[in-house]
Amino acid sequence: MNNNSKKLVGIALVILAALLAILFVRKFTKPVEEFIPGPTSGKLVIRFLDIGQGDSELIQLPEGGWILIDSGDRGKPTSALLKKYGVNELALIIATHPHADHIGEMRDVMRAFQVKEFWDAGFTNSATKTYTDMLAEIKQHGIKLATPKQGETRQFGDVKIEVLHPSTNFVDDNPNNASVVVRLTYGSKRFLFTGDTEVAAWKEMLAAEPEKLRADLLKAAHHGSSNGTTKEVLEAVQPAIYTISCAVGNDYHHPHSKVVDLLRKNSNLRVYRTDLEGTITAVCDGNSIEMSSEREAARNQLYATGDEVAGNASNHTGGDGGMGSGRRGGKGKR
Ligand SMILES: [Zn+2]
Repeated sequence: MNNNSKKLVGIALVILAALLAILFVRKFTKPVEEFIPGPTSGKLVIRFLDIGQGDSELIQLPEGGWILIDSGDRGKPTSALLKKYGVNELALIIATHPHADHIGEMRDVMRAFQVKEFWDAGFTNSATKTYTDMLAEIKQHGIKLATPKQGETRQFGDVKIEVLHPSTNFVDDNPNNASVVVRLTYGSKRFLFTGDTEVAAWKEMLAAEPEKLRADLLKAAHHGSSNGTTKEVLEAVQPAIYTISCAVGNDYHHPHSKVVDLLRKNSNLRVYRTDLEGTITAVCDGNSIEMSSEREAARNQLYATGDEVAGNASNHTGGDGGMGSGRRGGKGKR
């Protein structure tokens, strides 16, 4: 064999090894989870949908039926995700407050699915077009509309929903503080959904009935902002699981370093993040909660601030924000 032939055989062997490696990786790697239960599984399934910067939580009731809390921003794939998870109609939609990252996709959701009932915070000060469009859509479909207040409860089969905020007397100019806060209870497990509540709303809830805030799972208020989770909040809720809904490279620095510091100090708390792990799923049989996520993230990454994750992501992706979530235009409170 001359030198050229040897080179050709060498190159062929390298190509063959690369092809075998690709085949091996394809065969032996698979996504972290995909639990899609039947319509009446006897389990409460809550999905924290990965819709970029914003909130959207899809709840599948143990005896069948669906509830949606918030929809994510306009243009997000919420309806497609709802279809993927088997939604045919929604027993209830809760719009926590009228910011676009929570209600932007509501109109499309109402066009895609039959909706029986709609809860809205009723915060009509400085109503945006997104908000008035949402109200018009509710009216057009003849959906029953309510503005729930602190103290109200509703039973969906074995799942109880308690409204913890706002009270009838609560007044605040900030739409985030008008967020409808609900606690779901199934068996011995409780789940707290907080919208974008900030300090003033928490102050009222902590003063009213702090024991009502106790929950096994806490959805971080306001995407992990420093005004949404404080030491007092964690002490009152005492969660075992903490979920953050936000996007890589968000302009709001979510989650904030103060929150991340609190989480690091709380070693019993398991943290889940949609920006790093995609859609997060909690499955509850009434006695225990099983968590899973679309993607795996390194444990130390889960305790990185929004800015640190954005920095890391831009190092890996050439500065485009990375991981499909994109950077948002515009600043301000959301
Ligand atoms: Zn928000």
